[in-house]
Amino acid sequence: MNTAHLPPPDRCDALVVGAGVVGLAVARALALQGREVMVLEREAGIGTGTSSRNSEVIHAGIYYPAGSLKARLCVQGKAMLYAYCAERGVAFRRCGKLIVASTASQLAALPAIIERARANGVDDLVLLDRDQARALEPALECLGAVHSPSTGIVDSHGLMLALQGDLEHAVAWWPATAGWTGWRFRPTACWSPPWTAPGCWPERW
Ligand SMILES: Cc1cc2nc3c(=O)[nH]c(=O)nc-3n(C[C@H](O)[C@H](O)[C@H](O)COP(=O)(O)OP(=O)(O)OC[C@H]3O[C@@H](n4cnc5c(N)ncnc54)[C@H](O)[C@@H]3O)c2cc1C
Repeated sequence: MNTAHLPPPDRCDALVVGAGVVGLAVARALALQGREVMVLEREAGIGTGTSSRNSEVIHAGIYYPAGSLKARLCVQGKAMLYAYCAERGVAFRRCGKLIVASTASQLAALPAIIERARANGVDDLVLLDRDQARALEPALECLGAVHSPSTGIVDSHGLMLALQGDLEHAVAWWPATAGWTGWRFRPTACWSPPWTAPGCWPERW
C-alpha cells in the first residue's frame, strides 16, 4: 500500500533513535513482540557509526566484574549471537583468542584471569605454556598464554543487515532520504518522507 501521501504517524508503541547494532537489535526485539516500532536514523543508512568501525570481536566475557550485568549479558549474548549468526547466515568465526604473557609478571597473572572468567561462567579457558601457545600460533614469542576458545569474530555489516532484514520482514520500510532513515512497524501500511510540511516532524532528529 503506497501511503507516501499520508501525514507521518503521530503514535507508535516505541521509538528507537539510532540504527546502529544496538538500535536495530532493540527494534527487532520489540517488533517481533508485535509492537509498533519506529527507528529513526540521522545518517543516510544503517550502521555508519561505531557499529561499523569496531574490532568485530565476539567477546567471551572474561574481564567484567563477577556478578555484574555486563558479565552476565556478555556470556549470554555471546551464545545468542553465535546462534543468530548461524541461523541467519551472518559470517562469523569462532577462532578463539590468546591472552599472551611476555613478561614474568604477566605470566604470574594468567591464573587470576582464568579464575575471574570462571566466576563469570566462562569455564573453557586453558592455560598454555610457551610451546603449546606457539603450536597454535607459530609466529608468537611469549612465556605462556591463556586460550579462550569461545572468543570469535563477526561480520558487523552482515549482522546489521540481518537485523535490518528481520525488521523489514515484520516492518514496513521506507528508504533513506535527505539525511534520515526510518521504519515503521505496522503490517498494513507504510509512510514515507518527506515530513517537511509545517507542523510535520523535523527533518532531523
Ligand atoms: C575502537 C572500538 C572498537 C570496538 N570493538 C568492539 C568489539 O570488538 N566487539 C564489540 O562487541 N564491541 C566493540 N566496540 C563497541 C561497539 O562497537 C559498540 O558498543 C556498539 O557499536 C554500539 O552500538 P550503538 O548502536 O549503541 O551505537 P552506534 O553504532 O554509534 O549507533 C548509534 C546510531 O545513532 C545515530 N544517532 C545518534 N544520535 C542521533 C540522533 N539524535 N538522531 C538520530 N540518530 C542518531 C548515529 O548516527 C548512529 O547510527 C568497539 C568500540 C570501539 C570504539
